[in-house]
Order: sequence, then structure tokens, then C-alpha cells
Amino acid sequence: MLRTIAAFDRMGEENAFAVLARATELARQGRDVINLGIGQPDFATPGNVVEAAVKALRDGHHGYTPATGILPLREGLSADLHRRFGVDVSPDNVVVVPGGKVTMFAAILMFGEPGAEIVYPDPGFPIYRSMIEFTGATPVPLPVREENGFAFSAAEALSLIGERTRLVILNSPANPTGGVTPKAEIDALVAGLERFPHVAVLSDEIYGQMCYDGLAHTSLLAYPSIRDRLIMLDGWSKTYAMTGWRMGYAVWPDALVDKIRKLAVNCWSCVNAPAQWAGLEALAGPQDAVHAMVAEFDRRRAVVVAGLNALPGVRTATPKGAFYAFPNIAGTGWLAKPLASALLEEAGVATIGGPDFGVHGEGYIRLSYANSVDNIERALARMSRFLSERT
Ligand code: PLP
Repeated sequence: MLRTIAAFDRMGEENAFAVLARATELARQGRDVINLGIGQPDFATPGNVVEAAVKALRDGHHGYTPATGILPLREGLSADLHRRFGVDVSPDNVVVVPGGKVTMFAAILMFGEPGAEIVYPDPGFPIYRSMIEFTGATPVPLPVREENGFAFSAAEALSLIGERTRLVILNSPANPTGGVTPKAEIDALVAGLERFPHVAVLSDEIYGQMCYDGLAHTSLLAYPSIRDRLIMLDGWSKTYAMTGWRMGYAVWPDALVDKIRKLAVNCWSCVNAPAQWAGLEALAGPQDAVHAMVAEFDRRRAVVVAGLNALPGVRTATPKGAFYAFPNIAGTGWLAKPLASALLEEAGVATIGGPDFGVHGEGYIRLSYANSVDNIERALARMSRFLSERT
């Protein structure tokens, strides 16, 4: 594997952070910018979770913890996964990490090398491709299409798998599209994977608790036939509004769990101790704040979808999960990135151009509706004015 400095030059970025920096700069200059760019809940971490961190600090949890996380937290995660999906996961297979991205990084590092192929969703979270390129592996985009409600197709995913494929990355509910892949499609994919026993699966389920219209999240953990090659990624960032705490976890198969433990020992030692105690309270304490947040996202989703569909040249599929809308803007005559840039600079609305999420993202922009209804309505009014004048 090419572990030279050149590998860093192949790494990409997450443009949401650049847009956030630009929006913050414009706001500093006195501009009124509405930020629908960044993917983080606009809610505070629930009070009981904050108090648990304060208590942990007062109780003297100031030192290193076991590299894979404190046992009560790993036991709490096992209980949580049993409650949510009825699955049995040993705490020994659970590894707590400083954010979901770290699981992604570790998994792609384990399977990526020159000559290997990794299948990943496109449009999708940009770090998948960035990390694949870092390892020197060949990225193989799995298109997720508007006409399928931005669900992935099992047949298409299976058709991309070959002898050189090492890893398939899945993400449902999805960033940036809000697509949720139906259970039947996941059943078909898992059945098809039996023909490819050499292929591992990274299932990014970080938005698993954000499904709408009565949909239940389908976890890949529920499929025993692939448990020995499945890495299930999840975390606290989105569900508990804890992006800045840097708390994630994954369920690893027996063959890999000691490798990720060693990476932790070599790299981050452990996740910060008070945050782990807070993470336990988040899981084990009352879930009302999560339910209230998801209900509020659902309310905003209706506002966003109606507002976007009323814009000239814009149409949007109704997102079924996460907190993003991914409108098709092809009818405006604009390319996606220039449109996102003009909306920010001229209309004071931060969004992200679809191409920042992959080659199949042209013709779309991403809006995060993790913002107040009032701000969303103001943003839509600005977009309406802008598009009426500029298309
Ligand atoms: N996976 C997806 C699909 C995401 O959208 C994000 C964050 O935006 C992450 C993983 C990483 O989250 P974190 O590292 O904050 O846990």
C-alpha cells in the first residue's frame, strides 16, 4: 500500500466545512446568512446527557479508559441494539471511537490497497471516496437515483462486485439524499452477497433513528449470514445532537475487532472518558429528546419539500430519512456548484452543490433542514426571489 506523503494529496475533503467557514466569514462581515449547508442538528445535546458528563468529571473520570471503550458503555450499546433490532451483539464486538468517521477510516484502511476495488454510494458522504483514494484502492461508485427515491438497487450493487472487490459501503438513511433503501432491496443484496464471500460490508447507519412516514430502519445487523464480515457504523452525533463531542461506535466481526483495538492503542488511546459516560446516559436515559427532535425534523421536512417544489425549475423527491433534501435543480438552467455558490454569495443561503457528493450529484443541491422553520421559510423565499430573477 502506498503510505507516502502523496497519499495525502489524493485525500479529498468535506466541502460542508468550507461552506460553513465561508458562511461564518460572511456573517462576520455583517451579512445575514441562513445556513442550510452543514449536517448537524440545530438542537442542544439533551440536558441529562450534559449532566452525566459533568458528573463524570466530578466523579474523577479523568484518565485513560480501555481502548475500545468502558465496559458499561459497550454493554449499554449491546442492550440498545437488542432493544432496537432484537439482535444479540457481544460487548466484545463493540468499539467506541471518536466519531463515526473514525470507523469509516479504519474500515477503508483495512480493505483498501492498490488493485482492490471498493464500492460506495454516489452521491454519498464524500469521505468514503476520499479515504478509498487515500489507500490507493479503486473507487467504484454505486449510483443512487432519484427515480428510485434515492434508494440503492441490490441488482446494481451486485453487478459492480467482482474478484477485486474487497468492501461494499452502504448508507441508509442516506446523506446527502435522505433516501431510505427498502427492506426488500436489502434482503436481495444480502442474499446476493452469499455469492461473494470475499467481500466485506461497511453499513453506515448513523441516521438509523431518523426515518419518517412510519418507516422502520433496517439494520444490516439483522442478517446473520453476513455478520462475520459486517462492520456496522453508528454514533451519537446525529441521534443525540452530539457532533462536537466526537462519539461514535461500530460493531465489528470477530476477525477484525482486535485490529481496530490495536489501531486505537496506536492512534487515539481511547475516547475522552466523560464523553463516554455521557454517551451511556444518552442510550440508557429517557429518549424523549430524540423523539421530539425527529418529530420536529419531520415537520420541517414538509415545509422544505413544499417550498422547494414551488420554486421555478426545481423538483424534489420527498426524503424518507436523515435531515436532508436533495432537490433536482436541472430545470433552473444552472449547474449545481455555481448555483450553490451564487445562493450563498448573493442570496445569503448556504447549501452544498451535489457534485461535492460524487459524480452522480450534478443537477442537485443539498439542503439540511436542521434549522428553524422560520429560517427555512426565509431561505426558501430568498431562493424563490433569486431563481425568478436569475433563470
Ligand atoms: N456517516 C454519514 C453518512 C454522515 O453524514 C456523517 C456526518 O455527517 C458521519 C458518518 C460522521 O459523523 P461523526 O464523525 O460526527 O460521527
